[in-house]
Amino acid sequence: MFIDTHCHLTDRHCGDGDAKHAIENAMASGVGVMICPTADPADIPGALKIAEEYSNIFCTIGIHPEYTDANPADFLTDDVLQNPRVVGIGEIGLDYHYNADTRMQQIELFEKQLAIAKKYNLPVAIHTREAENDTAQILNGDVCGVMHCYTSSWDLAKKMLDRGFMFSTSGILTFKNSGDIRETFSKIPIDRIVIETDSPYCAPVPYRGKTCEPAMVIETARVLADIKGVELPELERILEENTKRLYPKIQF
Ligand SMILES: [Zn+2]
Repeated sequence: MFIDTHCHLTDRHCGDGDAKHAIENAMASGVGVMICPTADPADIPGALKIAEEYSNIFCTIGIHPEYTDANPADFLTDDVLQNPRVVGIGEIGLDYHYNADTRMQQIELFEKQLAIAKKYNLPVAIHTREAENDTAQILNGDVCGVMHCYTSSWDLAKKMLDRGFMFSTSGILTFKNSGDIRETFSKIPIDRIVIETDSPYCAPVPYRGKTCEPAMVIETARVLADIKGVELPELERILEENTKRLYPKIQF
């Protein structure tokens, strides 16, 4: 089966009822497991609910750098992190594309969440955009996890490979103008890659411009199989193993 390791399925993103539809479509298309991250603390109750409702959906809980007013201790509680459906902390990180003016607050929020991940020995799902230097400096190898929707440089990839990170690629890999990203993924070892949709954003070719949903992760897998020179069923098996290694709490 294919796994969408990062899809936003809470009502705020999908609209009431749409998540159910997206989940059914995914399962009918061979996407058997989905991992729902949170960004806004307001997503957290919905993500927990959906992961408890479906045996093949798990979640990661974290606060995205856009929400620097939030205090992680209020949300990343013992109860939440010990929930068997919560397999990691994310998405967390740095985004200087939209929010460069909050750099110091973002770093503080990020570091607090990394300390919690270390305490609970949980993998992290990292968002990084136009923040390569700070990301490389802060992720010093204390915690491990995945660079989600990776579009940064090969240079940063090399550093994070050395620190044990995995790399997740999304529909962006299929875009015509994504030659650099395809080249980066051609160099990342196949046992360090997972795939995601980041739905409802970034629908892959041939669905560009439509609302993205987890079923579409297979289009990204097709392009990745081509880049790696492996047959799709072989890639499917490798990605399954990689996902289990990335998120040891996951059960399927
Ligand atoms: Zn995301």
